[in-house]
Amino acid sequence: MKRRVVASLALIASIAGGQETRTTLDAPARALPGSIVRLSIDSPAGSDSIVAIDGTMSGERLHFHRVSGHTWHAIGPISPDAKSEAEAKANVTYASGQTETLTASTRIPAPPPSRGKPRALAVSPRFTKPLDSATQARIDRENATARAIGRQSHDTPILFTAPFIKPRTSVITSRFGSGRMFNGTLTSRHLGVDFRGKTGDPIVAANRGVVAMVDNFFLAGNVVYIDHGDGIVTAYFHMSKTLVAKGDTVQRGQTIGLIGATGRVTGPHLHWSARYGALTVNPLDLIALGKGW
Ligand SMILES: [Zn+2]
Repeated sequence: MKRRVVASLALIASIAGGQETRTTLDAPARALPGSIVRLSIDSPAGSDSIVAIDGTMSGERLHFHRVSGHTWHAIGPISPDAKSEAEAKANVTYASGQTETLTASTRIPAPPPSRGKPRALAVSPRFTKPLDSATQARIDRENATARAIGRQSHDTPILFTAPFIKPRTSVITSRFGSGRMFNGTLTSRHLGVDFRGKTGDPIVAANRGVVAMVDNFFLAGNVVYIDHGDGIVTAYFHMSKTLVAKGDTVQRGQTIGLIGATGRVTGPHLHWSARYGALTVNPLDLIALGKGW
């Protein structure tokens, strides 16, 4: 209950028009599982200035940046498996040497609203037969590699200054978090965003970053992973052709590969995925945040 009080006080202070007498941490009152949210720390004008902030949310490190004299922003992840609430915690260090820990909670609606009706997929029997142990081991290894790339991104400095863009301008055919039917059985949630496209259509980098991996995965087919720094990684699945190599710096809007139907798919499309650290998050939230963190 104490945490809720702290979050409510921060909210009231910000509604009152910045008349705070103490430093506050603000997080959205509510967010869906797998969201990325903006966190804001404000200190009163004329107070002991903040020199450093570190923090955590959903078990992941936060990266705060000063956006104006007394305001710092970070983005925070909500786990796709989050239930009831997610807490952000920030340790603030002032010029005087004093330190302070702030918390704010975001409520997770329960049960999570379904985004659209379950999507029925009929896929090759190659993907619906029980997996042999070698294939399952391969999938587990590939998942672990992807998580490791997300974790390593916390040590990459922020590599972008402009807002994120969509990797395609085409229609979105499946949203993040929608239910999935495989040959008549609801198997999992869809933890990415699908864009329509024909084999050979271009896919662009959603923002500036460094190519962390180009590989061929059992489920995702030909993949490109881009590390944008600050814990943020975007990934592009099922490509017919990849046009970049590990270690390349790519610019926002640069073509990095072509639409294809490699991996577990019913037809050519782009599956776009994002990670914050080890967590899979909704990539469209990166775009919704716009500038300013
Ligand atoms: Zn997809």
